Amino acid sequence: MSEKIVGILGGGQLGRMLAASASLLNIKIAVLDIGESAPAKQVASLAGSKLKHIDGSFKDPIKIKELAAAVDVLTVEIEHVDVDALEEVQKSTQIEIHPSPSTIRVIQDKFRQKEHLREKGCSISEYLRVDSTVESVKEAAAKLGLPLMLKSRTLAYDGRGNYVLKDIENANEAIDALGGRELYAEKWVTFVKEIAVMVVRARDGTVTSYPTVETIHKDNICHLVFAPLRSRDPSLSERARAVAERAVATLDGAGVFGVEMFLMKDGAIYINEIAPRPHNSGHYTIEACETSQYENHLRSILSLPLGSTDLKVPSTVMLNLIGASSSMSEIKSIVDVALTIPGASTHLYGKSECRKGRKMGHITVVAPSDAELSARLRPLLEALPGSTK
Ligand code: ATP
Ligand code: MG
Ligand code: MG
Repeated sequence: MSEKIVGILGGGQLGRMLAASASLLNIKIAVLDIGESAPAKQVASLAGSKLKHIDGSFKDPIKIKELAAAVDVLTVEIEHVDVDALEEVQKSTQIEIHPSPSTIRVIQDKFRQKEHLREKGCSISEYLRVDSTVESVKEAAAKLGLPLMLKSRTLAYDGRGNYVLKDIENANEAIDALGGRELYAEKWVTFVKEIAVMVVRARDGTVTSYPTVETIHKDNICHLVFAPLRSRDPSLSERARAVAERAVATLDGAGVFGVEMFLMKDGAIYINEIAPRPHNSGHYTIEACETSQYENHLRSILSLPLGSTDLKVPSTVMLNLIGASSSMSEIKSIVDVALTIPGASTHLYGKSECRKGRKMGHITVVAPSDAELSARLRPLLEALPGSTK
């Protein structure tokens, strides 16, 4: 067992699920995020301990150092953290940081991440550096074609930071919409499916992975995740795992990584992006795998033996509960339905405010067959706002 205290930068839903998992192994967790009631802090009780959660930003070097001084191992539930501060902690203390600050630095800049993957020979589609000028965007569009996917290099999540440029005359609008931030351009990928693999990187650098899943996005936000992947190509799942494992093997530090990929019609697989932490496409592992991504993240950063990543159910789906408005009422009606469905587990994140497009929770459904899974999922989809049932 481990007596080590884990500090988490970020206290959102991923931190909350990490903390819930930590509590089963009685691992103490200290969380750095703004507010006393961040989702992770609500479930990581420090009652009876001298340790305290920290109220502050994971971008604030002083607060990061304050957290580091109180814990044995640092990890992140979000990549948009101050890496300079983590590097200073790494140089000046014995504290372990997983994944390594250098990995977080590469990943938090999506252009740099692409460059890294290209240098390591990982399979990615075409992209180009662009300046935030109309000429530069036009040049990229001339080379990569339209539509062109313009992406903010940093601080992107849930598609906020992406702009699909369909008409070159809108180049200026695109730059404005992305807030004048540093950009790069990606060729539009005509994928047949989006797939993802959670990879666990042990302290010694060895990698193992969870089953390949299919992810379905709506408005750039993950909507549904199905596992295992159903495909007429029996080699696909293993090929995707190999692509993901190979990519994560090129990064330093322990922990789980989410590898998002595009599947092409001809069977080719391109990596879209990698998250250096537990990931939305791995929520299903809590109910559907022998060891959840959260527990394996903790096990790997604490040098404990890793748990099996195998599925323990024949079929599973995860449905994200995305805010439809500032009211929780739409979410509550879906949860009311979920409570009546066998094999459905509801997770609400305890966020103080509901907003349109905000991830407020998720539901995982497990079933003894794909047919039964569809039957169990249907009433949930019908309860979604805007369903035409
Ligand atoms: P996340 O919340 O996963 O971190 P993000 O803001 O980093 O999201 P991306 O993963 O880059 O955004 O893109 C969001 C979605 O947009 C993808 O899952 C995919 O559906 C679509 N997408 C991204 N890049 C491309 C592309 N080059 N061509 C076509 N579609 C794309
Ligand atoms: Mg991203
Ligand atoms: Mg993504």
